[in-house]
Amino acid sequence: MLTVEDAQARVMAEVTPLGAEGVAFDQTFGRVLREDITAPIDAPAADNSAMDGYAVRAEDIAGVPARLRVIETIPAGHLATARVEPGRAMRIMTGAYVPDGADAVVQVELTDGGLEEVTIRQSVARGTNIRRRGEDMRAGDVVLRSGTRVGAAEIAMLAGVQQRVVQVGIRPTVAILSTGDELIEGDAAREPGKIVNTNGPLLAALVRDAGAIPRPLGIVRDTRDATIAALEAAATSDFILTSGGVSVGAFDFVKDALEALGAEEKFWRVAMKPGKPVVLSRLRNAVCFGLPGNPVSCFVSFHLFVAPALRKSAGQEGSLFPPAVRARLTAPLRAAADRPVYFRVRVTARDGELFAQPLATQGSGSLTSMIGANALAVVEAGTSAGAGADVPTLLIAPIW
Ligand code: AMP
Ligand code: MG
Repeated sequence: MLTVEDAQARVMAEVTPLGAEGVAFDQTFGRVLREDITAPIDAPAADNSAMDGYAVRAEDIAGVPARLRVIETIPAGHLATARVEPGRAMRIMTGAYVPDGADAVVQVELTDGGLEEVTIRQSVARGTNIRRRGEDMRAGDVVLRSGTRVGAAEIAMLAGVQQRVVQVGIRPTVAILSTGDELIEGDAAREPGKIVNTNGPLLAALVRDAGAIPRPLGIVRDTRDATIAALEAAATSDFILTSGGVSVGAFDFVKDALEALGAEEKFWRVAMKPGKPVVLSRLRNAVCFGLPGNPVSCFVSFHLFVAPALRKSAGQEGSLFPPAVRARLTAPLRAAADRPVYFRVRVTARDGELFAQPLATQGSGSLTSMIGANALAVVEAGTSAGAGADVPTLLIAPIW
């Protein structure tokens, strides 16, 4: 059976980044930059004060206390109208440009705070409390790289360099089909034998989190014809996610229906627990993932295979896969299977070390075993890991 790593490589081979589109900079949170951004000018644009204090000539205050005449006050955002000549000083506020003639700023705490005349109690060297022109960035510097996902800091940078419209990756559309005769939507009345479709909303949220656009197409009944029709309708999307109907049950039609539509199967079944029956197939231009029906299998296989593909499709470069760390187990885990087991755990940081707390329930049908899970601890087939053991752990969500 295919290993998870080989399956991931096959997934990535099917995905090419979509094109780019121009978007207003403040609407790009969570999008992926598709152009390098360069600084148009030096920042800061001129030497400016890092403190509220007095702009002085360092040599004038080499001997202290020193008395200087205060000839001007420079608030932030205003320019001095004169030079600082020997024996003179200007009151200056944080961020204001350092006036010509001055080569240091003495913070107000080292003075008597005088308005007409000031007494400086401590000498400072030339350059003290001056933020240099271009210290943050120089004109022409690449300040943001193509392939980066935009967060708050990137938005601030785009604002700072006055990049009003930015090229970002087109977000892939992702059709979501929930197969199963047993399914009802969450707003329907309860019925014996039926269960609520939770994979649909689960996948829609995961898709959004991965930077793509979900197209929820509802429940598909367990017949070959209904499955074919639903896949046909989904094939205009960049990706198709189905859940359920990929095992060997008498009513599992996803593989059949894909074949009937002429889709090219890339793999079926991966050596992992949960999630073994996952299918990768190409249906015309759409990359189709047949995910298992069990909610937890669906969740785990999404993180391992689908999320990286969606990120790549949106243009993201670099860390596409869940990052692997080592974490110390707080309780033992045993992989009683012929495949590696991906246990849902909650990772926390304590005293600089990562700990992985296995969730109480690990059943693949159990919604509770996903709540609070921010990582998957990997235990190799047929092995155990005791409490305190350091295990490879894949982060699937922030750990705070
Ligand atoms: P299947 O692979 O179709 O046999 O489904 C495996 C298990 O997952 C069954 O117990 C299904 O009832 C359950 N299941 C399938 N689809 C969903 C869904 N959309 N929401 C919640 N549970 C599901
Ligand atoms: Mg089913």
